Amino acid sequence: MRVGVLGGGQLARMLALEGVPLGHSFTILEPGTDPPAAALGSVVAAAYDDPDGLRRVAEASDVVTYEFENVPARSAAYLASRLPALPPPVALEVAQDRLAEKTMFRELGIATPEFHPIDGPGDIEPAIAATGLPAVIKTRTLGYDGKGQAVVRTTEEAAAAAERLGAEPVANGSGRYGAVYGLIAEAFVHFERELSVLAVAGRDGSRAFYPLTENHHREGILRTSYAPAPRLNGALQAAGERLAGLVLDRLGYVGVLAIELFEAEGRLLANEIAPRVHNSGHWTLDGASTSQFENHIRAVTGMPLAPPRVAGPSAMVNLIGEVPDVNALAAIPGAHIHLYHKTPRPGRKLGHVNVTGDCEEAVMETVERVWALLPGAGELTRATAW
Ligand code: AMP
Repeated sequence: MRVGVLGGGQLARMLALEGVPLGHSFTILEPGTDPPAAALGSVVAAAYDDPDGLRRVAEASDVVTYEFENVPARSAAYLASRLPALPPPVALEVAQDRLAEKTMFRELGIATPEFHPIDGPGDIEPAIAATGLPAVIKTRTLGYDGKGQAVVRTTEEAAAAAERLGAEPVANGSGRYGAVYGLIAEAFVHFERELSVLAVAGRDGSRAFYPLTENHHREGILRTSYAPAPRLNGALQAAGERLAGLVLDRLGYVGVLAIELFEAEGRLLANEIAPRVHNSGHWTLDGASTSQFENHIRAVTGMPLAPPRVAGPSAMVNLIGEVPDVNALAAIPGAHIHLYHKTPRPGRKLGHVNVTGDCEEAVMETVERVWALLPGAGELTRATAW
């Protein structure tokens, strides 16, 4: 099948790397030059809202999908009027707006941090009354990797953060800008750990789930994931699958969906959804019988899903800002290198290393050998119980 992808970054690259062997071909819409996915398909070089670019992708594709959620609503609507656009545009709309997302969780009965919108200075007091302190103030749209948010400890700090965040345009992951005025206040959650659940829904309604993953962030950026999450038991997995299933139902979803979660006092609180393949699922390339990328492509092209089998523990270490000596990485048994063909820049995700092994301790030892080659390795943290 001919698959169109909006965005040509590493997620599109890995979708195509897994989709080409299934017999599919790829057309990528990407405004930047020499994107990571360029080697794997034909590129339409145009902005995501360029009518001619969108028309060319629609003509070259049988189905279109996305590697990021901030696709302009009009572009998604245009594509959906011409061909199957999956996941459905409503999933993008919800994921683009933290207020819509948290409202959806609440309506579905899924636990989420207390929240309240802030649309002007008059909303600060009621918002803090709802969330308590400390709180996190976030832009409703276009925040990513910890950008566009602030932790506040007093009402005065909340007012100052709201004034700053409410007035500033925030760049999104694709380098575009939008004026952002709507904010949301959330209760600051003293979580034990961050987890994510990765679900996939087929066009025929079939479903599959990956084991919950434990995620460690620094400066708002994912650094290391561990899967299956240490101490994962049947009840926790079932709770994650249940809440993901409710979201799949609500959105009439097709494709891979990730939901970021906080585990606090034995409960799962939903933080946000990503209507796409997700960084916390990159371990599936080496740690599961079928990767998130292959299952996403299977789903959107109408192929049968491949329920993933996970034989042992694995981890994923992001390579951020610079790539260490590749031969030194390659010399580590059990380390699987995935580079994205990107120009190094501080804070930029340039690749990742998946680590597999026979037992958790062996995986952790290998992760530490990978960390030792990275800048700032001393600040990386072990899985909570390995
Ligand atoms: P987000 O952009 O919502 O994914 O937030 C980025 C990171 O900030 C999360 O992965 C958490 O580490 C942290 N964070 C976000 N929201 C909260 C919250 N309500 N309470 C505590 N930490 C949070």
